[in-house]
Amino acid sequence: MPKITIDGKDFEFKQGQTIIEAAKDAGIDIPHFCWHPKLSISGNCRVCLVEVEKMPKLVIACSTLAADGMVVNTQSEKTLDARHAVMEFILINHPLDCPICDEAGECKLQDYAFQHSVGESRFVEEKGHKDKRVELGPRIMFDGERCISCSRCIRFSDEIAKENQLTFIRRGDRVTITTFPGESFDNPYTLNTVDICPVGALTSKDFRFKSRVWDMSHTKSICVGCSRGCNIEIGVRNNEILRLVPRDNEEVNQSWMCDFGRLNTFKHVNSDTRIEGAYINKDGSVQKVSWEEASKEAYFRMKSFKNSELAFIASAKATLEDNYAFLQLAKSFGVQNISYINHINPNDRDEILIREDKTPNSLGVDLILGKSRSSIKEIVDGIKSKKIKGIFIIEDDLVSADESLKEAISKLDLLISTATNKSQTTENADIVFGASTYAEKNGTFVNFKGRVQRIRPAVATENMERSLDQMAMSRLDKFGTKFDRWAKGKKYDAKPSWQIISEISEYGNSKLKFNMAEEIFDEIANKVPEFKGLDYDVIGELGFQLEKLNEKSKATA
Ligand code: SF4
Ligand code: SF4
Repeated sequence: MPKITIDGKDFEFKQGQTIIEAAKDAGIDIPHFCWHPKLSISGNCRVCLVEVEKMPKLVIACSTLAADGMVVNTQSEKTLDARHAVMEFILINHPLDCPICDEAGECKLQDYAFQHSVGESRFVEEKGHKDKRVELGPRIMFDGERCISCSRCIRFSDEIAKENQLTFIRRGDRVTITTFPGESFDNPYTLNTVDICPVGALTSKDFRFKSRVWDMSHTKSICVGCSRGCNIEIGVRNNEILRLVPRDNEEVNQSWMCDFGRLNTFKHVNSDTRIEGAYINKDGSVQKVSWEEASKEAYFRMKSFKNSELAFIASAKATLEDNYAFLQLAKSFGVQNISYINHINPNDRDEILIREDKTPNSLGVDLILGKSRSSIKEIVDGIKSKKIKGIFIIEDDLVSADESLKEAISKLDLLISTATNKSQTTENADIVFGASTYAEKNGTFVNFKGRVQRIRPAVATENMERSLDQMAMSRLDKFGTKFDRWAKGKKYDAKPSWQIISEISEYGNSKLKFNMAEEIFDEIANKVPEFKGLDYDVIGELGFQLEKLNEKSKATA
């Protein structure tokens, strides 16, 4: 491999890499604003200037190819002078907005001003003024004064979102970003520009002014909006989710996520529609009861049916662990009618990230349930023909399987549901258990390509504090969840579905002795061949690819 010397040390690099890429791989951060590893090179901010031996002038590291034997200095006097000059130039017209800017705390300009500026300004003239509150699109606000004209947003829109919607207008210090005449900055991926804008010029209307970033905890998780399973970080303050941002994973979502996933997959967590605790419908009146009473009632009511009269409906929205525990309970009752609901929208997909399957775990449920399951149509027909008299459903809404079930489910002899939020199913259920959302539990999903990925609790439930899941709690710390952030704020009285199921099983002979999600995964790894040899550590932060499934999914993708 060719070698490059950077700041006196030798590093190998890959042919075709630029100096900034070779340095990045070597762990050396050359300051940059306009360069982004996933976008084309524009070379306009000039802050990445470095000195290269035998070159007459400084060169920009983002567009100069590394060469074998090249000697680069990122800290020479000439380099630092140039860097200070560029920083001074960029800061001439930049407003002193940091105390009120959403980007503060994760702003490249703020960081570099601290690291690479001289610390004072010689500019005594009036700063240039531009529009500060421009509605660039339905989800994005633009502040012209903060913009440093790096063009990342324009290139993202052209190259990644494939929507040519943004451009520069005017020249010199009056240059600014705008949309083409009559157009709005509106495509399924606009909010990624907020992430990659190196300053606070682009802000999300949804998150604007909600929290300083350092006041939030940041938990690594997975988006549940579709079967892509984009890797995300959940931002939480006072036990409330305030934002989702994408997390890099080359194999799944590179550095991006869609606006739908970002805005619409967490608001149900802190919502008035949450189901808290357990309820039993006694003679037409819904009463809150203890978890124990509801579990006992669920067990003995199911026991009163023939197994052919019962159906269990698993969920592609729930984790592998929830579905595995559910299947074990179904087996203990001898239930054969087992299925789950597909949530496919063939009209809502693209070639970038968005998948037509609107659940995070349908491939996972397929693997857990195996081949012997019924089709959902058979179960729907069974309900309509009254052959099926009792249903246990987890984390899904029966009516979403078939609108015409609205009336039929009210006539079932028994309907039991675990659910995070109210739905037409819970409205009609005889027994309802409040389930933890994906943001309140440990577990795993399998995305459409066969990648097993972990979710982790970002917000606490009341139950979590009492839970036996202490070991899982201590593991959380390893991934950066800060428990002090949970001290304040509303906590919902909910339990993971696998735990509710385990508690129901305690009234029978086949008790499920699961105390934590990880134990269930270990059993899955022992019993389901596709997961052999896996555990939570092997899955790690970026997931684990089930090889055979990858081949299969390639054929059907
Ligand atoms: S709005 Fe942000 S990303 Fe776009 S050109 Fe300005 S500074 Fe760069
Ligand atoms: S593409 Fe799917 S998984 Fe990714 S952010 Fe959008 S909804 Fe979520």
